[in-house]
Amino acid sequence: MRQLSNLTSFIGILLILTSCGDRNKERADLILKNGKIITLFNEQPEVQALAVSEGKIIAIGSNEEIQTLVDDDTEVIDVNRQLVIPGFIEGHGHFMRLGETLTQLDLRNVNSWREIVAMVEEAVRDTKSGEWIVGWGWHQDKWLSPPDPSIEGLPLHHDLSAISPENPVLLNHTSGHGSFANAKALELANITNQTPDPDGGEIVRDSSGEPIGMLRETAADLVKTKFKVYQDSRPLEVIEKDLRRQVKLASEEAITNGITSFQDMGSSLETIDFLRKLADEGTLPIRLYMALHDNSEILDDKLEQYRMIGYGGGFLTVRCIGEKVLDGALGTHGGWLLEPYSDLPRSVGFNVTPIDDIERSAKLAIEHDYQMAIQGIGDRAARVLFDIYEEAFKKNPDKKDLRWRIEHAQVIHPDDLPRFSELGVIPGIQGIFACSDGPWVVDRLGEERARERGYLFRSMLESGAVVMNGTDPPVEEISPIESFKCAVTRELSDGSTFFPEQTLSREQALRSYTINNAYAAFEDKIKGSLEPGKFADITVLSRDILTVPDDQISDTKVIYTIIGGKIKYSSKRL
Ligand SMILES: [Zn+2]
Repeated sequence: MRQLSNLTSFIGILLILTSCGDRNKERADLILKNGKIITLFNEQPEVQALAVSEGKIIAIGSNEEIQTLVDDDTEVIDVNRQLVIPGFIEGHGHFMRLGETLTQLDLRNVNSWREIVAMVEEAVRDTKSGEWIVGWGWHQDKWLSPPDPSIEGLPLHHDLSAISPENPVLLNHTSGHGSFANAKALELANITNQTPDPDGGEIVRDSSGEPIGMLRETAADLVKTKFKVYQDSRPLEVIEKDLRRQVKLASEEAITNGITSFQDMGSSLETIDFLRKLADEGTLPIRLYMALHDNSEILDDKLEQYRMIGYGGGFLTVRCIGEKVLDGALGTHGGWLLEPYSDLPRSVGFNVTPIDDIERSAKLAIEHDYQMAIQGIGDRAARVLFDIYEEAFKKNPDKKDLRWRIEHAQVIHPDDLPRFSELGVIPGIQGIFACSDGPWVVDRLGEERARERGYLFRSMLESGAVVMNGTDPPVEEISPIESFKCAVTRELSDGSTFFPEQTLSREQALRSYTINNAYAAFEDKIKGSLEPGKFADITVLSRDILTVPDDQISDTKVIYTIIGGKIKYSSKRL
């Protein structure tokens, strides 16, 4: 024992000497000083300054302490008391789809169906006959006046078809769980009054059985498949140019919003191949955590080959099976519920991906050390997922710390709430959904069920779950600030509050967007807080979102977004 302790102190002295030696040589590439730096690092939760070298944080402390690391080549930024936080991590989004939508008609802020028809009419003028016109982001409940005529609150295709007789038109619902098509697109997809509803979807019809243009859930795939065939028929170089543009646009959109890492919830192996090429080139602008969404037959012998962690200098990780959706969205009455919708009593929603496919994926995931991140919006979908996950965990008691996720987790039955912490399953919420869905959730679920089971942010946290956060772009705008605001206020646009007992505190909301998202991607050792040794992924904000009054949170601007010590965005340099 004595010898051992001598040895220990000898090693201790050696370590001190080595670290003193290093310190003499240590210098910073970049320093932020004069900040209110919230580190989320328990040992030093708030500091004034931090130093970065070779992409990583090397020291945090007072201005004086950090000043010692400055040399002639160090870039020093005085952040002037502004708030410095760990870079926001988008916990659930669709990276390439975000890029793609940025090249399409943006229907998010229209006030009526009439306005959409006018936008398409204008697009028709600039589009060759036979080419597709694609739009996204509409939601009938956001329109100031209902369409006339309408069925179940939805428009009929005739006016759209009249102004675009030769161009197929595909308008994707903001939820991502339905699309609207004109006559030309319906014709290309062979959808007539004789076409049966596909499993897990619905061709919405008028009283005489004619399709009105709205295609719910898997029914939209009938048209989307035709659009994909058209896209794939383009020359390869045109396709690649398009993909590079999408990466650029999606990255810019994320980075200008203070996001330093993006968790993509479902891409094809082809997309991964393309992104790996960019990672090899060193041209990926933002860190990506990718989930694979192909079905289990395709993934079966590919998982091993595609698993990669921190590829290309920490810019590309693939270790998740995601996007598979067990059910649809609440907005389109697709979320799979235990009891029927209050405003559509004939329906409990849909099971979209067959349960046995999810079970096969779960088996593959556990075998190949992949995470599962499956969408469960309704309380029945969440229960089925808990059951599948629990079964997989029980069969593999040697596998620990699996961190499987239920994406969205919008409606949770009280009996299932404790299962998050019991099983170590992570609810992948989107703070912003409480505000964007808030106006109609009570219609869908009824007051009592909405209160008991809907958007249970605080109850999840108090049950011991690690609550992660995001905005699900392009379903919602990729704005962590707005999502943060909604998580802490749950204030709706009419000034009312959507079950305020479920708000998060400011710090809880910040954690949900940074360190918790890092944890949910097994990256909490390398990012999510500002501590020495971690990536220098940092966001600087114009307002202190931890203390400003609620009504000033939205005024907050991103001043700097820094990834791996490199300034990727600065409002000051524009
Ligand atoms: Zn999503």
